[in-house]
Amino acid sequence: MQMLSYSMPVEILSGKNIIYDKYEVFRRYGKRAMIITGGSSSKKNGSLRDVESALEKSKIEYFIFDEVEENPSVETVEKARQLAQKFGTEFIVGIGGGSPIDAGKAVAILLANLSMDAQEIFDTPNLNSIPLIAVPTTAGTGTEVTQYAILTDHRAKTKRNFNQSVFPKVAFLDASYLMTTPDEVTINTSIDALSHLIEGYLSSKANFMSDIFAREGLRLFSEVKDSIKNRVFDFDVREKLLWISTLAGIVIAQSGTSLPHGMGYALTYNKGLKHGMANGILLAAYLNCSKSMCKVDDIISLMRFDSIEDFAIYLANLFGEINLELDESELKDYANIMMANRSKLKNHPLDINFDKMYDIYFQSLKKYIIK
Ligand code: NAP
Ligand code: FE
Repeated sequence: MQMLSYSMPVEILSGKNIIYDKYEVFRRYGKRAMIITGGSSSKKNGSLRDVESALEKSKIEYFIFDEVEENPSVETVEKARQLAQKFGTEFIVGIGGGSPIDAGKAVAILLANLSMDAQEIFDTPNLNSIPLIAVPTTAGTGTEVTQYAILTDHRAKTKRNFNQSVFPKVAFLDASYLMTTPDEVTINTSIDALSHLIEGYLSSKANFMSDIFAREGLRLFSEVKDSIKNRVFDFDVREKLLWISTLAGIVIAQSGTSLPHGMGYALTYNKGLKHGMANGILLAAYLNCSKSMCKVDDIISLMRFDSIEDFAIYLANLFGEINLELDESELKDYANIMMANRSKLKNHPLDINFDKMYDIYFQSLKKYIIK
C-alpha cells in the first residue's frame, strides 16, 4: 500500500441554520472578532446577519471589514490588517466566496506577524496566523477546507498562492446562503470545484485518501451536471454543489492543483476571465494532453460523459460565446510564464515542455486568436 501522511484539520459543521444552532463555537476563539467579507452579497444572503447574531449571543465584540474585491490584492489585506490591529482582533470570520475568505487568511497571518510588510507574505516561509472561521457563500474554491489562499500581486503582475498554511479552524456549510448566487457565478464556481477534482485526481501528489474524495466529488458532479447546464439551482442542487466544492477542497489540500490552475491565472490577470471559466476553458485540452493516464478514463466515466470530446462540448455550451481576443504572441508569453511556475509543474506527473504547454493554450483558445 502507498505510504501515506494525511491531515485534514478543519472542523466541518453543516446543515440549514447551522450557525444559529452552533453559535457557541465562536466563543472558543476569543472575545474580539473581525468579520471580513465582500461589498454586498453577505448582506443579502443572510450569512452576515447569522454571524452577527451568533457573535452577539456569544457576547463577542466585532467589527466588519466589507471592502474585499474579487481576486483580492495585497493592498486590501494590508488595509484590513491595520484596522483589525487597532480593534485588537483575536480571531477572524471570513464570509463569502474565495476572495474574502482568502483575504481573511492573509489578514490572519499579518496579525500574527505585525512587524512584517504585507508583500513579504509571499516569500517568508512557515508564518503563524491567528484563528480563522470560514463561512463559504459560493460553491467553488473549497478554501474553507484548504490551507491555501490566493492574492493578486500587482508587483508580479499575476495572482499567486502565497504558500503559507492557514487551515480554518471551523467551516460552517449552509447551502441557504448560496440561494442568491447569480447563475453566472454558480456556473463559474462549480467549474472551479470540478477543476480541483480533476487536477487533484491526476496530481503527482494524489494519494489513496484524496482519490476517495475526488471520485465521490466527480460522481456527485454527474448528478448535477444537467442542472448546471439547464440553470436549475434549487436547494438540493445547491447543497450538492457545496459538497462537491468542499470535497474538492479536501482533495487539493493533499494534492494541490496543476496545469489548468497555473495556466488560467494569466487569463484572469490579463483578460479578466473569471477564475472558474479560465480553468474550464483549458480542461479538455489538458485531459487530452494527459490521456496516457488511465485515471483520465475514470474521470470521464465518473462524470458520466462519453468521451473527452463530449465533455468539451458540455463546457463550451456552458460558457457560450466568450468576449475574448488574443494573439499568438500573448499565448507564447503565457506558456513561458507557466514553464517557470515550478510549484504547479511539479504536480503534473507527465513530461511537459513549452510546445505542449503552448498547444494546450492554442487548442483551448484558437477561436479567439486574432491574426
Ligand atoms: P468571489 O471572488 O469570492 O466572489 C465572486 C462574486 O460573487 C462577488 O461579486 C461576490 O459578491 C459574489 N457572491 C459571493 N457569494 C454570493 C452569494 N451567495 N450570492 C450572490 N453573490 C455572491 O468568488 P469565488 O469564485 O468564490 O472566489 C474566487 C477567488 O478564490 C479567486 O481569488 C481565486 O483565485 C480564489 N481561489 C482560492 C482557492 C483556495 O484554495 N484558497 C481555490 C480556488 C480559488 P460580494 O463581493 O458582494 O461578496
Ligand atoms: Fe480554483
